[in-house]
Amino acid sequence: MKPKIWLSSPHMGGTELNYIHEAFDTNWVAPLGPNVDNFEKDITAFLKEDVHAAALSAGTAGIHLALILAGVQPGDEVICQSMTFSASANPIAYLSAIPVFVDSETDTWNMSPQWLEAAIKDRIAKGKTPKAIIPVHLYGMPAKMQEIMAIAAQYDIPVIEDAAEALGSHIDGKMCGTYGAMSILSFNGNKIITTSGGGALVAHDAAIVAKARFLATQARDAAPHYEHTHIGYNYRMSNICAGIGRGQMEVLAKRIDQRRAVYQQYYNKLKGIKGITLLDEPAGYFSNRWLSTILVNPAETGAITRETLRLALDEENIESRPLWKPMHLQPVFKDSPFYGDGTSEKLFENGLCLPSGSNLTADDMQRIFRVIDKVFN
Ligand SMILES: *Cc1c(COP(=O)(O)O)cnc(C)c1O
Repeated sequence: MKPKIWLSSPHMGGTELNYIHEAFDTNWVAPLGPNVDNFEKDITAFLKEDVHAAALSAGTAGIHLALILAGVQPGDEVICQSMTFSASANPIAYLSAIPVFVDSETDTWNMSPQWLEAAIKDRIAKGKTPKAIIPVHLYGMPAKMQEIMAIAAQYDIPVIEDAAEALGSHIDGKMCGTYGAMSILSFNGNKIITTSGGGALVAHDAAIVAKARFLATQARDAAPHYEHTHIGYNYRMSNICAGIGRGQMEVLAKRIDQRRAVYQQYYNKLKGIKGITLLDEPAGYFSNRWLSTILVNPAETGAITRETLRLALDEENIESRPLWKPMHLQPVFKDSPFYGDGTSEKLFENGLCLPSGSNLTADDMQRIFRVIDKVFN
C-alpha cells in the first residue's frame, strides 16, 4: 500500500523544538508562561490591527467563552452559519441556548446576508432578538463580512467571528479574525498552523480579552486564598503548546503561499473538466486556501459524482472528504430553526475537499492527478 496522503496534516517549520526546549530549561512546563505571552503577541502582530488575543486550549473553548461574554443564557437564540463544522454550533448547546441556522450564498459558500436578515426579522417577530451571530470563513474563504457586519450593527447584535479555518485570509487587507466583536482562531492539528491543539479568542476590546483570560483560568478572583464569584473554566493554552505555536508563526506566511500553490495546481488541472467548478475569490477577497474544494455536477460529467472521485482516491490511499454537512441536516440539531433556500444542501451533495496540506510533494500531486485522470477520461 502506498503511503497515505492526508487531507491536511501538521507541517512543522523546524524551530518549534527550540521554544519547547527553552520551556523545559526554564521549567515553564505549565499552562501559561513566556511562550504563551509571546505567541499571543505574534498573533496580534500578524492580524495587523490593535487587537488583543487570549491563547486557549481549543478554538471550541474560544467560541464557548465568546458566547458567555456575549451574555448568552439558557433559552436564548444564537444565529449560526449552517454550513460549518459542528464546533461552531456545539457551544451554543453547552449553554442550553438555541441555535438558529442560516444558509449559505454561492459566492463564498458562507452565511448568506439575505437569509441572515430574514432570520433576524423573523426571530424578532416571534418575540426573541438573537443574542449573537456566528459567521464562518469556511475552508479559508472569507464570508461576506461587510454585509454581515452592517446587518448585525443595524439590529445591534454582536458578531462572534469563527475564523478557525481562515488565519491569513482577508478582504481588502482586513484580516479574518479582526471583524467580530470577538473572533476565534484554531490551532488544531489539521489547521493551517497548529499547536497540536489550541485556539485563541481575539478582540479589539482589551477588557473582553481580560475577561476571557479570567474565565479560562478558573475565574480566580484577586485574593490570597481561592475566591470565586464566577463559574470558571480550564481553557488556557499550555506553555509547551504555545512553543509549537511560536515556531509555526515563523512559517505561517510560507504555509499560506504553499496552500495557495496547491489550490493553483488543482485549478490548472481541473478548470477544463466539464462539470467541475472551483471556488474563485470574489474581487478583493483573499483566501488562505486552507482546503481546496470542488463541486462535481453529475449532470455535466456523465454521471460521475463527487463520490465516484472520493472512492477512487480512497482506493489509492488518498484522503478526501465531502464538504461539511450543514448543521440543519444533522440529527443532533434537527429541531433547530433554519432559514435558507437549499444552497448549502446542494453544496454538501456535490462538494469535495481535496488533499490540501502545505507539505504535499510533487509526487503526491502526481498520484492525486493520476486518479483524477482515470476518473474523468
Ligand atoms: C476547527 C474548527 C473549530 C474548532 O476548533 P478546535 O481548535 O478544533 O476546537 C471551530 N470552527 C471551525 C469552522 C473549525 O474548522
